[in-house]
Amino acid sequence: MSNCAVVGINWGDEGKGRMVDLIAKDYDIVIRYQGGNNAGHTIVNEYGKFALHLIPSGIFSEGVVNVLGNGVVIDLEDLCREIDNLRAHGIRITPENLKISERATIVFPFHRALDGLEEARLKDQKYGSTLRGIAPVYSDKYQKKTVMLGELLYPEHLKAHLASILEWKNLIIHNVYGAEPYKLEDMLAWCEEFGGKLRPFLCDVPKYLYEAERAGKNIMFEAQLGALRDIDFGIFPYTSSSSSIAGYACVGAGMPGSHVDRTVGIVKAYSTCVGEGPFTAEWFGEEAENLREKGGEYGASTGRPRRVGPIDLVATRYGVQMQGATEVALTKLDVLSDYDEIEVCTAYTLNCKKIDTFPTTALLNECKPVLETVKGWHTDISKCRKKKDLPKEALDYIKYLENACECKIKYVSVGPEREAYVKL
Ligand code: GDP
Repeated sequence: MSNCAVVGINWGDEGKGRMVDLIAKDYDIVIRYQGGNNAGHTIVNEYGKFALHLIPSGIFSEGVVNVLGNGVVIDLEDLCREIDNLRAHGIRITPENLKISERATIVFPFHRALDGLEEARLKDQKYGSTLRGIAPVYSDKYQKKTVMLGELLYPEHLKAHLASILEWKNLIIHNVYGAEPYKLEDMLAWCEEFGGKLRPFLCDVPKYLYEAERAGKNIMFEAQLGALRDIDFGIFPYTSSSSSIAGYACVGAGMPGSHVDRTVGIVKAYSTCVGEGPFTAEWFGEEAENLREKGGEYGASTGRPRRVGPIDLVATRYGVQMQGATEVALTKLDVLSDYDEIEVCTAYTLNCKKIDTFPTTALLNECKPVLETVKGWHTDISKCRKKKDLPKEALDYIKYLENACECKIKYVSVGPEREAYVKL
């Protein structure tokens, strides 16, 4: 039995889904342990191209059981849509291969609305929210004013609980934001329409996982966002509202007494970042546009253009440390083909002093990148499948990154397709 976490080292969109899809066949269970439908994991395999928002990336692997843990927040309507869409593409989704924790939290339509109302209030100070209700629902959870999916099984209890939550929530919606209050009967009808379809998937996940562990099953945890979006260790407040780090994986999955044996940290060969907040080594203009186009850097959930730049080794080393990564998978190396020289950010300057540790956001805003270049290559590497196929300069770049982030690079991904990778 071994537990493995696949996590992002940077700002997200590193290619976690693609790596889970590749590695999942070695595991019996794949669990999403945090976040909601606010990010997308793009996967290209024999079934086609998919952007998974909530469903774990093990859904394509025969015999793998996929789990949405208690740390996840679920928009019932959106999850139903995602299941329907996958089924329409021939993917089998049944209560045997998808289990949803009774302890996962419901994202209601009023959470989505509150996201939009708050961003509108903030105007040019906005956080760059994906408007899926994630920050409102996580903050409500910590106020103990949310509904668990398991409550869908007990209609009378649900009605009373939701009524008390709505009474409070409508005070904010109406009195603070001046918006239309939400009606209890509408929310109950919404729960019935979409929650009804999800009821068969509900499961006592902690019990299921306890038994699975005792039976020697191999379990994988799939993170939704990168280390720099973690609520505690990321670029707060431009983070997500949950813990994306591997340290939270067992808690958010539903096996809090367990531990992670192996942590695969996904690092992109260059940097990207969606939304607002400090992004020290950012490129602008034509240079940025070219990289964005080459890498297809547009959000999988929102279609938003991603900010781009060279790999940031200060942030990457920090991400590796915060995740406790035992190995790194380097993705999108093919995108860097055709540069004479590849730029890397090796340190920051802060108040005219050079620093190589990742500071908190207040200082990060003042940091400037220290840039170096390493030799590039002009060969198309997307067909490389063995280490010996890679050009010397690409191998040198990998070695350079490995030394800088102090962690062994075990996989190099050279294309979006499942088989487009080199194992080192
Ligand atoms: P995730 O949220 O971390 O799973 O990442 P996203 O799906 O948001 O973004 C990764 C994007 O890069 C997707 O469009 C993938 O299909 C694509 N991708 C992943 N690995 C590679 C790679 O090695 N090369 C190229 N060219 N594209 C890749």
